[in-house]
Amino acid sequence: MKNSIKALAAALAATMMAGSCCNNSSDSVTLKVTREMECDVLVVGGGAAGIGAAICSARHGAKTILAERNGCLGGMATSGLVAPFMSSTTPDGQTLLIRGVFEELVDRMIAQGGAIHPLDAKIGTWTAFRDKGHHGLGTFDYECLKRTTEQMCVEAGVDLMYHLLFVKADKKGDKITAAYFATKDGIWKIKAKNYIDCTGDGDIAAEVGVPYVYGDGEGGVQAVSVFFTVRGVDGKAMARHNEDCIRRGDYEGQWYMNEIKAAREAGEFPSWRNKIALFENLDGSYTVNMAQSDDVDGLDPKQVTDAEVEGRAQIDKIVKFLRKYVKGCENCTLDATADQLGVRETRRIEAVYTVTTEDAKNSVSYPDPIFCCANHMDIHRKGYVEYVARNTNDPFYIPYRALLPVGISNLLVAGRCAGAERPVMAAIRVIPPCFAMGQAAGTAAAISVADGVCPQNIDSQKLISTLRADGVYLPQ
Ligand SMILES: Cc1cc2nc3c(=O)[nH]c(=O)nc-3n(C[C@H](O)[C@H](O)[C@H](O)COP(=O)(O)OP(=O)(O)OC[C@H]3O[C@@H](n4cnc5c(N)ncnc54)[C@H](O)[C@@H]3O)c2cc1C
Repeated sequence: MKNSIKALAAALAATMMAGSCCNNSSDSVTLKVTREMECDVLVVGGGAAGIGAAICSARHGAKTILAERNGCLGGMATSGLVAPFMSSTTPDGQTLLIRGVFEELVDRMIAQGGAIHPLDAKIGTWTAFRDKGHHGLGTFDYECLKRTTEQMCVEAGVDLMYHLLFVKADKKGDKITAAYFATKDGIWKIKAKNYIDCTGDGDIAAEVGVPYVYGDGEGGVQAVSVFFTVRGVDGKAMARHNEDCIRRGDYEGQWYMNEIKAAREAGEFPSWRNKIALFENLDGSYTVNMAQSDDVDGLDPKQVTDAEVEGRAQIDKIVKFLRKYVKGCENCTLDATADQLGVRETRRIEAVYTVTTEDAKNSVSYPDPIFCCANHMDIHRKGYVEYVARNTNDPFYIPYRALLPVGISNLLVAGRCAGAERPVMAAIRVIPPCFAMGQAAGTAAAISVADGVCPQNIDSQKLISTLRADGVYLPQ
């Protein structure tokens, strides 16, 4: 019995071996490795975190590959049509907290007319939430983000590889020895000294057995959304309506809540969102975040597909609602729907240090801070959004150890799957902090290669001083 189990394990281990042939059975498949590559640092996932990680790893001398399943960079910020950059400033809007590679990107985009600076986005404008909570919502152009991040990667020497879906990793002891990708060309194998998981879902970490928490730990996850853009909105009319409502103290009117209620009663509003959520873009179009579904597992392709289909059906009705009920939107038309479902949460890995809600509330100090931010915590629960303001202008810090998964010595994790309690992740999962996490992970991975020590053993003071030298705001 033992021997036959051994034989089965050996057969399974042989799957995906270079040059192996195609032995298919009902529950396993052996595929041929058609290409092999090596690098110092392999970043998987080209969203905000992966972009920051790859650029900074390459800039610090590591031979870096960035593997991404889509045909562009940006992840949620481009393929998901998610915009604007959520706040990257102190709550009073006076100090930019997320700097470094994020600020550099924003400055390059501004020079092309593709972004406004977060410090120029003030409460009371359509580019920022209108009445409370959010200075610094930096509007940006999706195409400019795609193009500029590609240019920054290429200039840094990152080897970009699109259309690679990570599917498997080999592990020896506490080290990953290779990653495998499904491609049109068969299976590609990439070996690296260090791996950075920026998939948003912690795909590599989960594959190599890092413990994680899924959503609320009881199977529940935040709502998913399909973002879309519309054209033909009369922004001036909406701004006038908005100002009138603020003057009258008419909160419900300001957010068109009565119109939504009336439309819902008439069977003409399909989503549970109870407030209008339109964000003005630089080219006069508006990004809309109002199509929403619950109980969708972002790791299950069929559920994701169904939610995308449902989202686009909702969008058709929401555009009709906007035209019929919302002053200023009478002539709006659908411009584009996102290619990719907006998944707010799946896995959060168990890290060497898990940032707690109390840590964030109390702005706790750490010996190894990598960036600070001041985002509020918004959890999109079934039927409503729970919004927890921190009620202080003080930022909170994220330590390097939150990027280090337990049990694997040559893996870092950055982005919305890093090591933080759920409410903290609800604050730091927005785009600017993801860039900051990526910058820290990429810099650390390169230092690790240069110094010949694993990421967990790098000199954290060297990491901090390197991040500071690269423009990261770390006053602590
Ligand atoms: C509905 C919604 C609304 C939001 N609103 C805002 C907002 O207004 N402002 C804001 O700043 N933030 C907002 N956010 C949060 C923000 O968009 C994301 O949390 C953030 O962009 C995550 O960045 P990331 O790099 O961790 O992941 P992603 O942007 O998800 O990037 C992950 C990348 O990895 C790739 N990938 C995944 N798996 C694999 C694999 N196995 N192999 C290869 N590649 C893979 C993906 O294609 C993707 O490019 C919102 C998010 C959602 C879902």
